[in-house]
Amino acid sequence: MRFFSEEKVSEVRDRSSIVEVISDYVNLKKAGRNFRGLCPFHSEKTPSFMVNEEKQIFHCFGCGAGGDVFSFLMKVNQISFPEAVEELARRYGVSLPLQTASPSQTKEAARREALFQINELASNYFQEILTRRREGEPARQYLAQRGIREQTIDEFHLGYAVDRWDGLLQYLRKRGASLSMASELGLLIPKGKESWFDAFRGRVMFPIRNLQGRIVGFGGRAIGTGHPKYLNSPDSSLYHKGEILYGLREAKTFLRQSDQVMIVEGYFDLLMLHQSGLRQSVATLGTALTARHLRLLRRYTERMVLVFDGDAAGQQASLRLLPLFLEEGLWPKVVLLPEGEDPDGFLRKGHLEDFKRRIAEGPLLMDFFLDRLAKIHPVKSVEGRAKCADEALAMIQRIPDVIQRDFYLKALAERLELEVSLLRNRIGRGLKGRLRMETGAQGPLSQRYDSRAEETVVRLMTQDPRWVGRVLEERIIDEFESPSLQQIARAMEEVYRRRGDLPLSEVMAGLEETLQEKLRRIIFKEVVFEEGIEEKILEDCVQKIRERRLKRDKSELRKRIREAEKETGGEVPEALLAEHQALARREALLRKSGP
Ligand SMILES: [Zn+2]
Repeated sequence: MRFFSEEKVSEVRDRSSIVEVISDYVNLKKAGRNFRGLCPFHSEKTPSFMVNEEKQIFHCFGCGAGGDVFSFLMKVNQISFPEAVEELARRYGVSLPLQTASPSQTKEAARREALFQINELASNYFQEILTRRREGEPARQYLAQRGIREQTIDEFHLGYAVDRWDGLLQYLRKRGASLSMASELGLLIPKGKESWFDAFRGRVMFPIRNLQGRIVGFGGRAIGTGHPKYLNSPDSSLYHKGEILYGLREAKTFLRQSDQVMIVEGYFDLLMLHQSGLRQSVATLGTALTARHLRLLRRYTERMVLVFDGDAAGQQASLRLLPLFLEEGLWPKVVLLPEGEDPDGFLRKGHLEDFKRRIAEGPLLMDFFLDRLAKIHPVKSVEGRAKCADEALAMIQRIPDVIQRDFYLKALAERLELEVSLLRNRIGRGLKGRLRMETGAQGPLSQRYDSRAEETVVRLMTQDPRWVGRVLEERIIDEFESPSLQQIARAMEEVYRRRGDLPLSEVMAGLEETLQEKLRRIIFKEVVFEEGIEEKILEDCVQKIRERRLKRDKSELRKRIREAEKETGGEVPEALLAEHQALARREALLRKSGP
């Protein structure tokens, strides 16, 4: 693994902006001194994910995830620490010492690069045929007839694979590319030893790019009688269908601008939407939408619109997705097209305004689902109503948000003319389980004693290092009651004594994970102290901590005196009496300095 010096890591951290980096993944809004958004690490409806630019940390109050800019990148991209450092160094122009990767790492990286280059070569070949060769004529005609403009062909790098067994094969061989690698990518198909043939023949080719713009796979649409109609690259080490959306790279800035994303199923649907100016669109690639897709999209927007075919199959396809959306806490709309229309054909016929109206008026997928249930089951009959209720409840149970769940319970009760309590009872068991989970997250009861004063002292220390000096002068850390707050304060003391300053990353590095989390929670608590009042607050806290400590010491001493009396038959040892007197002096002093 690569190793960087502490200085280099600090330099990269200092040059980076955590808000800027996280904004690539989370829609952040300013909230007081912090930024707030929906956590990318757990599914939630109300934002509990906080980022602090000044302290360069993030924290999620929902799932407890948190850390600095490196830990964010590591977690969100599943990469190692050195990779996160490298990514940020590249982004913020910090030069790193030369790569000294292990031989196996270098080999793996070189292999991936070679695979990408083969895809790139193949794409160039397909594109050249479509745009410049006579053999491309049938595909050019086909695309023109489907209303695809030249500009779109360029922008999406469309191509054509001729109807031959060795077109791409010859092209790659001439350029010295590894044919077995091309076969691994699904571009060639092996036939016996050391021999291959083209996988894509007689097809319009759609290169599929990842967010970095590199080609990970291809989709091919047969233009003749080829079977199947659509052929896609198989999953490979570069390509995972459940994580890639066609057109996302081209659409991502438009998703943010319009705060909306349209999800379609086909390549041509996507190109047509894009061409019609609805550039905030992406397509799934012949596979169902996955939770990973949704998490990827919600980095840009939460407002999702499903645009499927206007037939029974299209409606079924969108309804099948409802549980997935509900579990992710998302409420997509659905666009209903006239029977027999698909998005591509409908727009090609020039119904853009009609289409936009249908987007605006589209119902929530959940409402669409409830409407359809009522149509399928005759709600006039008792049996029909029971069936309808059970199917709807099975769906409503998946809604993670308590308030929204209750809203739909009431809506369902109204539709079916049933008592809402009856419906609640019917899913009572499931709901009870969930409620217990939610209260379980409040923290152990043993932590319930009031540690607000100690917490405030810690918060003041994080806000300005000069308070650390004051706190050390007062020697108040020794009197803390909470062991975890004491450990945190001691870690800050240690760094401060060593550095004369309080770089948070160093404090964090010296703490175990649960204490790091506790410290982040304290920092993110929105308590705004009035200007100039900190001194007074610190004094009050110190006073309170001392009083509580005195109380603890007194009750402790009383206990010891009682025990001694029992043992000696009424006599109190000299040492304990002296302690008692010392305590009384402490108390008198405290009273004097107190309010
Ligand atoms: Zn979270």
